[in-house]
Amino acid sequence: MSNPNFTVRQLIEMSACTNCQACADICPAVSASRKGELSAIYRLKGLNEILKSRTGLIRKLFRQKGPSPDEHKQFGNTVFRCTLCGNCQEVCPVGIHLKALWLSLRHDLVHSRHYPKKIDMIRDNLDESQNVFAEDNEERSDWVEDMRDAPDHGFIKDKADVVYFTGCVAAYYPLAQKIPIALAEILEVGGVDFTLLGEEEWCCGFPMLGAGLKDMVQEFIDHNVAAVRAKGAKKVVFACPSCYQMWREYYPRKFEIFHGTQYLLNQVRKGRIPLQELDLTVTYHDPCDLGRGARVFDQPRELIRSIPGVKLVELTENREACRCCGGGGNLEMIDAELSKEIARQKIEDVIQTGAQAVVTACQQCVRTMTTHVKRNKVPVEVLDITQLVQRALRG
Ligand code: SF4
Ligand code: SF4
Repeated sequence: MSNPNFTVRQLIEMSACTNCQACADICPAVSASRKGELSAIYRLKGLNEILKSRTGLIRKLFRQKGPSPDEHKQFGNTVFRCTLCGNCQEVCPVGIHLKALWLSLRHDLVHSRHYPKKIDMIRDNLDESQNVFAEDNEERSDWVEDMRDAPDHGFIKDKADVVYFTGCVAAYYPLAQKIPIALAEILEVGGVDFTLLGEEEWCCGFPMLGAGLKDMVQEFIDHNVAAVRAKGAKKVVFACPSCYQMWREYYPRKFEIFHGTQYLLNQVRKGRIPLQELDLTVTYHDPCDLGRGARVFDQPRELIRSIPGVKLVELTENREACRCCGGGGNLEMIDAELSKEIARQKIEDVIQTGAQAVVTACQQCVRTMTTHVKRNKVPVEVLDITQLVQRALRG
């Protein structure tokens, strides 16, 4: 059997590992679980064994048996207990593209049927409802009904210059729905001609990649591209870093795409969004897919600093080194306790800054951090950057 789920480059890169353990030292999953088996270095070793056991010549020469089905399954479970934060890749001194490797590995494990059972639920949800939560996709823009002064068209227009692609989490989770409400209000104030796709918006495909279900993604990409094209839009805006990154890396380049922080900063620079003074000290948490993933570090900070009166203090580990909040990689569905512990450690970092609020630019980061501070009565506010700008609009 060959290894068609890995590229030649990946197979070559893997052999460059020097066992330095830098990836294990910074891994949030290792830190929260205290289990080295969740580290990149352990995973690379396991993957090497599996690959060698599939290669006929090496197997014959070295009598390489490879892991038993139970060991393979156990290994599979460790692979999915990872937030795909990309911090291991960031510190790897020999430049192994570890994040892409983890996606290929998950795909391979699904093909060889050594994966956690929850993956079947993700597949079924997406297959049946076009969103990751098995909600009715017709209700994707129901959050508009919670807006003050929503227009009669409910932001679903036949044609518009800009499409605001909300993403599954912001569309359906009550806690995260504050983000599209805020962004829609700001875009209205800025006079932007925008539309939602409503039920014609399907999952962007990122949860499928994270679940090892790469084979499903193309249908969703084709559908979303056709839906945006039908609106006659030239630009697509995302508040979700994972949707943005997915469109950046996997979608055809038919439209100009912006993360909300980039789009709003442009609007602020053009003087289209009037910002009132706020007396607030905040810190900024770089979402993994926006920061390490898309290298968007400066625009969110500039946007925060453009609000009069807001003071920004940095986390000790910020920008490329920012620690994950625990919300990525479908980890919450696979191992909710591990996700919670990573969030707890993140909030410890936030408390050290002395900030009144932690601002981020991702609905999933808002969810994981808010859940922790509410459950544990931590006196820190968690805000998406759109909520901060919305507050500054009102003064
Ligand atoms: S992507 Fe993040 S959580 Fe996963 S192994 Fe790398 S550092 Fe750990
Ligand atoms: S940081 Fe890179 S070279 Fe070092 S152990 Fe991890 S994968 Fe290997």
